[in-house]
Amino acid sequence: MKHIRSLCVLCGSREGFDPVHREAASRLGKLIVERDMRLVYGAGSIGLMGVIADAVLSAGGEVVGVIPDFLIRYEVGHRQLTNLVVTDSMHDRKRLMFEMADAFVVLPGGLGTLDETFELITWRQLRLHDSPIVIFDVAGYWKPLLKLIDAVVATGFADPATTDLFAVARSPEEVLQRLAEAAQPKEQVLTSHL
Ligand code: AMP
Repeated sequence: MKHIRSLCVLCGSREGFDPVHREAASRLGKLIVERDMRLVYGAGSIGLMGVIADAVLSAGGEVVGVIPDFLIRYEVGHRQLTNLVVTDSMHDRKRLMFEMADAFVVLPGGLGTLDETFELITWRQLRLHDSPIVIFDVAGYWKPLLKLIDAVVATGFADPATTDLFAVARSPEEVLQRLAEAAQPKEQVLTSHL
């Protein structure tokens, strides 16, 4: 495994109703600093985005935020980050976050998080990157998504090895463990449209 220096976390611009999500984001933030990694994320100060950035900063860690100009106001751009990169578009934001990270973790989130997650997974399938992706299934939040992916495979619209493109973890400690042992996807799933 290559050493993970820079971890991109995708997560909601809301916190959800159950405090378990906030708690999980905060614990993951502390672990990121303990393992000497920097956080790359979408630069917001609200929702789980703000929670994880604050957790990393208050543990003395490094946080790089990437946000398009027009969103600074809506997502209340975080003002205390180690480094804030402002882009012209959502596409540039995603591209930059992806380029700056060695690995990705998906925390609970909304439609924006879903968009980013599927792009990450499908880009790995297309060999546009080969960085580990871990879905952090806090309190079963991502179960319906995982079930949907299983149904897509079961109905013949994706290769069974599609699930090798990401790992699933249920605690912050397990997230780090899954990142460390991240498997290489099987050849059959890569560019499986061919
Ligand atoms: P959400 O999960 O909807 O709370 O959004 C999480 C993050 O995803 C926020 O920083 C949003 O700006 C971002 N986001 C929202 N829509 C999109 C999209 N279509 N593509 C990429 N990112 C998005």
